[in-house]
Amino acid sequence: MAEMKMYLDDDRSWRGRTISVRPARWYASVRLERDGYVDTLTARDEDPSLAAGFAEAAERFNDQATTRIWYDGYPGSFLSSTGARGVTLYTPFTYMESAREALRMAELHHDYAALHSLSDELALPLDDWLRPGERELVRGTDFSPPPTVFLSFLRGQASRRGLRLNGRAEAGSVWVRPTVPALQKRIREALPERYPGWVDQWTGHIDPGGTIWRPWVGGREQDLSRGAVPIGFHDAPVPSIGRCPCGFSLASGRSDTEHPSRHAQWAFGIRVPKNLEFPLALAVVTAQSPIAWRRLAGRTGRLPQRESGYDFNSWSHDIGEPEETPERFRAYLLQADEHVVGYLAAHDTDRHRWWDLVKGSAYDQPDGTRRPSIDMIWVADTYRRHGVGGTLLQALADDSGCEITDVSWSHPVTKAGQHLARRISPGGIWVS
Ligand SMILES: [Zn+2]
Repeated sequence: MAEMKMYLDDDRSWRGRTISVRPARWYASVRLERDGYVDTLTARDEDPSLAAGFAEAAERFNDQATTRIWYDGYPGSFLSSTGARGVTLYTPFTYMESAREALRMAELHHDYAALHSLSDELALPLDDWLRPGERELVRGTDFSPPPTVFLSFLRGQASRRGLRLNGRAEAGSVWVRPTVPALQKRIREALPERYPGWVDQWTGHIDPGGTIWRPWVGGREQDLSRGAVPIGFHDAPVPSIGRCPCGFSLASGRSDTEHPSRHAQWAFGIRVPKNLEFPLALAVVTAQSPIAWRRLAGRTGRLPQRESGYDFNSWSHDIGEPEETPERFRAYLLQADEHVVGYLAAHDTDRHRWWDLVKGSAYDQPDGTRRPSIDMIWVADTYRRHGVGGTLLQALADDSGCEITDVSWSHPVTKAGQHLARRISPGGIWVS
């Protein structure tokens, strides 16, 4: 079935209003298009908004009709779009024609009676299905879709109303017992303005004539919670952490799926990509290395950058072609458990000063020896206090043909860096 379009005005150009009916797989959308009409009225300084009561009637129709479409088995959702520029009704196919006519009456004659009476016709007996008590609803008498479809629909509707549906689909019926969870009851009673008219009919409901026999098959949560004492809730001060130690800002309102993966990298390091051969514990990556290695160094470098909130990544050679740098930029990556857990970025420079860690003095006279200078040293959180920093420093010294005490530290030296430096070289360190 193709789209059908009806013109509401004599003007059949873009300025005129139209109603189109577009069939989808589970339902049809009936769309009143007012776009050009609104522009024309606005240009004439006239009010283009929908007449009073129109939006309300359309929304009421959609509430009932979309519930009905879900009942028929549609698993998806709907976009709500009712405004001056157009009104969309979602309707079961059997109501397509009447919905179009009701929409035409509403727009041309400001008559919403047809919309309202369709809403009444479409309404399902949800209050009855979800009233308290255990009972069997029979297909063909109480409902028409297949029992499993109906049960899943009813569960969704129950949870929209804060109810929990204990239920089971049989061959030609469903057994249901709606209850209200204590938390939902408390929320609704505490916020009457959000749930006007809500009355708890479910708590303490006793089925007339005692318990109905109900054909449970297999172990279900239902049986294991029968007669259980409800959970008690208390208010308590909740810790508020503005910023996680990994550097993620918890107050920023960013997606909370992002934090766990970042936090895991901070705690366990960056996973070594499958396509990289990393046969020994330590890799020396330079600005001349293959791009996959330079990228791995760059990804690892981002972890201390985030943790300490630095503006720049200490490894910036993760783009472009291999290049020879006079300062010999390099990154030492230490691998454990198939992750890069230790990272040291360094380059050579010949401007240093001696910093006496005993006297804590200001920096001494300049030194012009060419030395390796540490731009960043970082260890994944889980691997800290296991000597990884010392291993990285030793690798840098060995690779640079000098002693550990000869290496220089980029200013400013972090607390963790100072701690490491003091252990390695208690008298003092070179800074650059
Ligand atoms: Zn974190």
